[in-house]
Amino acid sequence: MKLNELKGIGSKTEETFEKLGIGSVEDLLEFYPRDFEVFSEPVFIGEIGYKTFATIKGIFIEQPKLRRAGKLAIVTAMFKDELGGSIRVTWFNAPYIKDSIKTGKLYIIRGRVSRKRGILEMGQPKTYSPEEYEAKMKALQPIYAQTKGLSSNQIAKAVKLAFESGAMEEALKRDYVPEKYRTRYGLCTKEEMIRGMHFPESREELNRALQRASFEEIFLFILAMKSREDFIKTASQFVIASDPRTEKMLESLPFKLTDAQKKVISEMNTDMASGCVMNRLIQGDVGSGKTIVALSACMNAAFAGYQSALMAPTEVLAVQHHENFTKMFREYGIDLKVGLLTGSMTVLEKRVVYEALEDGRLDIVVGTHALFQEKVNYKNLALVITDEQHRFGIKQREALAEKGAMPHMAVMSATPIPRTLALIVYGNMDVSVIDTVPSRRKPIKNAVIDDSYKDNAYRLIEREVRAGHQAYIICPMVEFSEGCDAVNVEDYTEMLKDVLSEDIKIGMLHGQMKAAQKNEIMERFADGRIQVLVSTTVVEVGVDVPNATVMMIEDANRFGLAALHQLRGRVGRGDAQSYCMFVCNKSSKEAKERLEILKTSNNGFEIAAKDLELRGPGEFMGVRQSGELAFKNFDLYRDADLAVKAREAADEIMAGTGEASEKERKLILEKVSEGSSTIML
Ligand code: ADP
Ligand code: MG
Repeated sequence: MKLNELKGIGSKTEETFEKLGIGSVEDLLEFYPRDFEVFSEPVFIGEIGYKTFATIKGIFIEQPKLRRAGKLAIVTAMFKDELGGSIRVTWFNAPYIKDSIKTGKLYIIRGRVSRKRGILEMGQPKTYSPEEYEAKMKALQPIYAQTKGLSSNQIAKAVKLAFESGAMEEALKRDYVPEKYRTRYGLCTKEEMIRGMHFPESREELNRALQRASFEEIFLFILAMKSREDFIKTASQFVIASDPRTEKMLESLPFKLTDAQKKVISEMNTDMASGCVMNRLIQGDVGSGKTIVALSACMNAAFAGYQSALMAPTEVLAVQHHENFTKMFREYGIDLKVGLLTGSMTVLEKRVVYEALEDGRLDIVVGTHALFQEKVNYKNLALVITDEQHRFGIKQREALAEKGAMPHMAVMSATPIPRTLALIVYGNMDVSVIDTVPSRRKPIKNAVIDDSYKDNAYRLIEREVRAGHQAYIICPMVEFSEGCDAVNVEDYTEMLKDVLSEDIKIGMLHGQMKAAQKNEIMERFADGRIQVLVSTTVVEVGVDVPNATVMMIEDANRFGLAALHQLRGRVGRGDAQSYCMFVCNKSSKEAKERLEILKTSNNGFEIAAKDLELRGPGEFMGVRQSGELAFKNFDLYRDADLAVKAREAADEIMAGTGEASEKERKLILEKVSEGSSTIML
């Protein structure tokens, strides 16, 4: 069903939806919120501090005044809280507000806060009676990933319309969890799942919906892997030996490889020389030194006369790997050619790379998904490594196989997956673990702070910048979103300009920017032209700026610990002392305790396990668990038990002994064979 069949969605809005990957009403039904918001307790005006958004309780001490500036109607009023703090409130183009406000009556107001020469102002607040607000505080408000021109609220409205449309009925007919399994594992129905994922009336309802969504996802994933088992243990025509030139370079690095790195390098060497196709998952915590391992494998392929490709999840990271490799080859006098291929390159630039790949002038190519577009033809691609990127589609792999021979494959990941679970989920892959991180000369100093410490925090940032270092500030959201208290990059950057010394150069980075723009910002940060970078978690994956020594993560309680650990890995990369501050304004003891784990441990596996222990199974943890999350709903830790069940069901279905009707079985297998995007390797 087309989106414009829904009321109020025209072809223009339809295009905007497209940007979020929503092409139909069916897609919309499965476009689940990225987080849920519970309206927070009001604060006192004196507590607003550096917040960019606040909820306060109090009274209007005067009748709002209306004034006109050209076409603009401006309503202003003074608002006062119980402790006597006051703030000016402004509404634009809403002249009717003037008469709807009753002075002296108790209101809760929520809105963005700005500062003019240190004086606080609240703009465009929503007003509620205390009773109305109380009701809001009980409800879970969905927050959808948004894009320019399409707010979370608009998406929520469209979803509600979709529920009532024919698309919902159609969706319910395609149930991929056979009824008997649903009963066996105590899962909810598809309808309960869809409704509960968007508009749950309680935490329990959300958790039940999420459980079913996770099960369905991992179930289909396992089935897809099983149905492609013919891919593994196939003979390979690329027999690649470890080359002495590679070994020489590894020996002359400025550091000594850790034993874990050596082990993985040798495992890959054995794989690639074995005559079978390599199919290996390489796990290693942030900073464990995976890049050099990848480089070694690419070099060996090149010296054997073959091409290799390294795929990164973002352009920023691809550019960085490319520079890294080029620099190494220059330094060590290695005569191999490395190319770069990303989506934001011009047609002409791309064509040059295409040609060089086709005629074999390039030995190694680093890039994003652009590496495997149809137009790209490799002369003799023998090795594909994906970095921090699980989602290498099966279709892409098939396409490669069709274009030439099946290349050796390796996936590098910083997501700590427990070994037992790896066997269930990645059953057809060999797994290597880089279990030691090269010791840093100075461990990162960590602190869990709240807003009352912010003055000190900003002074620390200024001090570090003065000393020639740089800082990251991470916010969970890109831009202001109605009904969400979380700190956003845009408003925060504005606020920061007011707070930090004027000469400090502040930059902003987020996922809604164009790739070319992101690259430019990252480049400017890398060479020091930006000193403080306010960013979303786009910096999470692999970026390496050793001069950055401070990281402050706002609303840290909104992130999974594994994600925070990854983020923290961006600092402490150079010789100087580094600092990481986790900001948490939640009064709850649990929230702070959870974050304290990051102070005591620096081991990704341990942190992920403790996180689960404190979160409890089946608990929704918003925003994002990890930058390279391979799944939309399934969580490797939280849902370990679901994976075991899904494996059991999948085994039965594939063996034809399952408790599914012929119809159900057919539907599932159809879904599995069409699915490309949800499946890796
Ligand atoms: P990740 O596993 O997170 O991708 P990187 O490969 O980016 O880690 O390595 C992080 C940093 O550690 C890089 O600057 C790299 O040069 C350095 N490094 C890699 N291996 C070692 C080692 N054995 N000893 C010291 N430093 C190392
Ligand atoms: Mg890396």
